[in-house]
Amino acid sequence: MTAKVLEVQNLKKYFPVKTNLFGRGTEFVKAVDGVDFHINSGEILGLVGESGSGKTTTGRTIIRLLDPTEGEIIFDGQDITNTRKKDLRKTYEQMQLVFQDPFASLNPRKKVGNAIEEVLYVHGMKDRAQRRERVFELFDMVGLRGEEDKYPHEFSGGQRQRVVIARALAVDPKLIICDEPVSALDVSIQAQIINLLMSLKNRLGLSYLFISHDLRVVKYMSDRVAVMYLGKIVEIAPAEELFKNPAHPYSKALLSVVSGAGSGRKKKKIILEGEVPSPVDPPSGCRFRTRCKYATELCSEIEPQTKCLGDEHYVSCHLY
Ligand code: SF4
Repeated sequence: MTAKVLEVQNLKKYFPVKTNLFGRGTEFVKAVDGVDFHINSGEILGLVGESGSGKTTTGRTIIRLLDPTEGEIIFDGQDITNTRKKDLRKTYEQMQLVFQDPFASLNPRKKVGNAIEEVLYVHGMKDRAQRRERVFELFDMVGLRGEEDKYPHEFSGGQRQRVVIARALAVDPKLIICDEPVSALDVSIQAQIINLLMSLKNRLGLSYLFISHDLRVVKYMSDRVAVMYLGKIVEIAPAEELFKNPAHPYSKALLSVVSGAGSGRKKKKIILEGEVPSPVDPPSGCRFRTRCKYATELCSEIEPQTKCLGDEHYVSCHLY
């Protein structure tokens, strides 16, 4: 059996939008509202959904940049749900985050090599020569050999993302949460970064949670894909199966924009009507019901259970 590097159970993240006299939340944005999934060792799990679906909040809660409201986060066999921030150092050696905007995550006043040396120092590498050696190795790995003594502004966008990837790799992580890692880059550069991420994954045995709104990239990279809608995962399946046979009406619409998604000879683009409802007051029953052409009374009364359609394909919809 493949080992799970990450397991998330009933994860919730609510943000208070209204508070009472005592500062207690009375109304909440339910950004993530009961999410379950796992990532196997060496696996890439894609996480897709429209903007506002809760993808980024899920990633940031898992890495504990945000405190979960409820649920469990088991990373590499350890429950890190309530680990105090100061005790998370060991976790951060093994779980890293790569953001969308590499410029914002680099210190403009520090040479990039020195910034990575600092990370190594904080994580226990006290010998300077050893740190320098590791920096050379990392820059070599990401295709930036000899560029260690430059400042962030001296790099192009794609090169800066390579620096961020080198920094993420510095402490030998097992899991990298990639949050829209290529969406701020030119299309021509995107392919280079994607190929770099894939080759590093194969070479170092990494796992990724790959959050993206770009379905083509997710289809290309992922082993399995989870589809999120309004704070919930509505479908999860092996990538090939999901893009060929999406089951949930939302997944069908979302994936219909990608050529090759859906079975049948004619692949028609499905246009979703209406807006994503407010996560402060989501629809009762199935959250997708206000935009679903198959909705019945049952859908407004009872939240659908998750059912297995076989071969790791799970869907939450009353049609199944
Ligand atoms: Fe549509 Fe009902 Fe399925 Fe929700 S449960 S996706 S409303 S058919």
